Amino acid sequence: MLMVESDHALARLPYNRERRVLVIGGMRRLADRLRRDGWAVDLRRAPTLFAGVMAHATEEQPDRLVVAHPTSRSGLALVRSLADALPVPVEVREPVGFITRPGELDEILGKRAPRMDTFYRDMRRRLDILVDSHGDPVGGAWSMDKENRKPPPRTRDLGAPAPWLPPADDPLDASLRREFAPLPEVGEGGERVMAADTDEAEAALDRFIEARLAGFGPHEDAMMDDDWAMAHSLLSGPLNLGLLSPERVARRVADALGDGAPIASVEGFVRQVIGWREYVWGWYWKRTWRDANALGAEAPVPAALWGGTTRMRCVQVAMDGIHRRGYSHHIQRLMVLGTLMLLRGTEPWAATRWFQAAHVDGSAWVMAPNVIGMALYADGGQMMTKPYAASGAYINRMSNHCRSCPYDPKSATGPDACPFTTLYWDFLDRHRERLGQNPRMSLSMRNLEKRQDIPAIRARAREVMAALDTGVD
Ligand SMILES: Cc1cc2nc3c(=O)[nH]c(=O)nc-3n(C[C@H](O)[C@H](O)[C@H](O)COP(=O)(O)OP(=O)(O)OC[C@H]3O[C@@H](n4cnc5c(N)ncnc54)[C@H](O)[C@@H]3O)c2cc1C
Ligand code: SF4
Repeated sequence: MLMVESDHALARLPYNRERRVLVIGGMRRLADRLRRDGWAVDLRRAPTLFAGVMAHATEEQPDRLVVAHPTSRSGLALVRSLADALPVPVEVREPVGFITRPGELDEILGKRAPRMDTFYRDMRRRLDILVDSHGDPVGGAWSMDKENRKPPPRTRDLGAPAPWLPPADDPLDASLRREFAPLPEVGEGGERVMAADTDEAEAALDRFIEARLAGFGPHEDAMMDDDWAMAHSLLSGPLNLGLLSPERVARRVADALGDGAPIASVEGFVRQVIGWREYVWGWYWKRTWRDANALGAEAPVPAALWGGTTRMRCVQVAMDGIHRRGYSHHIQRLMVLGTLMLLRGTEPWAATRWFQAAHVDGSAWVMAPNVIGMALYADGGQMMTKPYAASGAYINRMSNHCRSCPYDPKSATGPDACPFTTLYWDFLDRHRERLGQNPRMSLSMRNLEKRQDIPAIRARAREVMAALDTGVD
């Protein structure tokens, strides 16, 4: 069994320190386990993956190379170049960690429009998860979103039981933090929150199902100042590392229905795993993403996200999670960090690289569709029917951040105006022509037409953008 720690891959971006701890720690733990199970393991450090495989092949003279289907186009190109360079056959097997194959999304959707809901229904039926004997949805509806989109409670935190966490004094984690300290990085790290081997992954899954699943649904879209994890599962890392099978995770969660877990939470979670996650994986292979920039966005990533300061409370809270743990939850990624970059007009590939560097669970396949397609609408609406553009009113409704923020979510102009609110109206104004043709944006566009203060919004937006770029907001 060959495993290569590539210097090039480790230093490609200023990754979050906890990302290197999770990924390299996961590889070293896996190597130890395989050795205990009797495998001969060659875990080596090399300048690149290519160099590592070639050096192994020279030393060990294998008669073939067997690899799992890579999860990125660059990985696939690497395997092809190895096949050209090696004198032995290279066999590519199924990808690890997914239910569907690359290219299968199109087969499943056929001639139907590519919509997540359509795909998800088919997946439920195909896997026989949460469907009755007639193929109808258990609970009477395919989506329980209406029950699930509740604002946060008026308590200090959600009150969900604590998630599974690894021991804070794990010696391998500590030594990896020291080892990688010289590399450029995002965040101070110090808190690994995701499972890095199969035993840990099983413990994290058990804990989530037993203690936290019931609370997942109602507040899955909410954010709170003093609750970094809410009732999220923290399973993206172990799923992406191949430590958990997504199908088994979905089945175990669906089975929890029989133990009394509420259908809204069970359905909400199953949709994330066999719906969104597989849909995003399918979309990654449907097109190339590098040059997508339908809205002509050219701005840099806001300085506050690269370590600058900000007074925006919602951004502060998300960045605190990234600095400490390399984690922000879905709504922070989509409706705070992603929306800020959408409204500012951040160049999509720069945004994608930032997300990938900042979070412990990033990979090419998951970042590109989520950032470029979902958060930034830079594919021009292929993946989503409308942009996730929202003003401070959304964050005010779905979080308690605005209460302790110096900005006013209701104001679009003036020194106290919420940057999200100013930029929201300015975004609609800047993209009047394109968005005006989208029927799903008609209400927003009508509201824009009613506004009398567009010149003042434009002027304030220029100030907000300059402040975001220089980090003095
Ligand atoms: C801009 C943006 C960037 C993102 N970057 C990543 C990333 O780098 N890596 C990553 O794994 N996910 C990413 N996501 C998806 C999602 O936000 C994370 O999977 C989730 O926040 C991880 O935390 P969790 O395990 O506690 O998730 P939970 O809220 O507990 O959700 C359960 C699981 O559902 C899956 N899931 C849900 N939504 C998605 C989705 N849109 N795409 C893929 N999987 C999904 C994940 O495996 C997740 O573990 C991103 C989403 C957005 C909008
Ligand atoms: S007022 Fe605006 S910037 Fe402040 S927390 Fe609310 S949405 Fe964020």
